[in-house]
Amino acid sequence: MNDNKCYKCNNNYKIIIRNTKRIYNNLIVIYDKKYCICNNCNIEFFDESVIDYNVDSFNNAYNNIFINITKKEIYNIIKLYNINYNILLKLLNTNNILISKLIDNNNVDKCLTNKLQCMLNSPFFTEILLINENKLNGYEKKIMFNSINRLKLEYNDSKIYVITNYIIDKVNNLTTLSLQKLLYFINGFSTIFNDNNIFSDNCYAWENGPVYKTIYNCYSSYKYPVKSNKLFNYNTILTNLEINIIDKVIEYYSIYDDDTLVEMTHITEPWNNAYNNNSSNININDIKKYFILCKQKYKIDKIDDIKILAYSFLNIINNNN
Ligand SMILES: [Zn+2]
Repeated sequence: MNDNKCYKCNNNYKIIIRNTKRIYNNLIVIYDKKYCICNNCNIEFFDESVIDYNVDSFNNAYNNIFINITKKEIYNIIKLYNINYNILLKLLNTNNILISKLIDNNNVDKCLTNKLQCMLNSPFFTEILLINENKLNGYEKKIMFNSINRLKLEYNDSKIYVITNYIIDKVNNLTTLSLQKLLYFINGFSTIFNDNNIFSDNCYAWENGPVYKTIYNCYSSYKYPVKSNKLFNYNTILTNLEINIIDKVIEYYSIYDDDTLVEMTHITEPWNNAYNNNSSNININDIKKYFILCKQKYKIDKIDDIKILAYSFLNIINNNN
């Protein structure tokens, strides 16, 4: 019997449930598995108290593989990855006739059904999708790469991704380039009003201004970012204050075109210093320091004062031209 102690340090441990993948009889089985993790030394170890749960959970998932795939599910996969039917056939190394047979229940190919179910239900296990990657051309690969990155962020409720989708929901004709500049201003202003960066993803100083690669990797093959299929409950993920800051940045900055927004970010010191020193990475503390200085210089006291910095940027841009 288990006595709820770590075998190494004898401290208490916790049990967590994690989505787990196991290959069995040539099939990919994805199931919820319980893991024991020591609260003290953080190591993961085996304990017999979780065996029953894990065996049941695995058997359940394995037995569920043998259900069929429907036309609607195939359509949902295509929608989920924002791909076309041809790319799907190439990824699965199959053809139209075999897929039709699956749907009609003829000659069921368990391995193929299994792969399709994994694509639909567990897209965060990316290896499944890349088995036939070499069948895709460069553009198709990029689309898949973007989709996989989006689905991973979606699965983890990544904050920068949630904010990105909030912006996509609110701004018409938003380009992926403008999106990056809005994220930079949102992160900067959040240091003034929220005392900290709203997200801590690395920011890079590229020629066209600051770029968050986390988000770049989601949309690099698109001019306009694609909307997630997931419906986020923004009010539970973001605080009222955070939503206020985002709304004001959208109100006062999203009205400018790509070129103007790029020029605005070029005026800011964090981008300037990093770019001119050939340092690709913009230090997160530099962003904080710069926006705190702006707060003092331009008397940005209320959230609505976010507009003052936009006007100041515009003045500088007009005087330079
Ligand atoms: Zn321990």
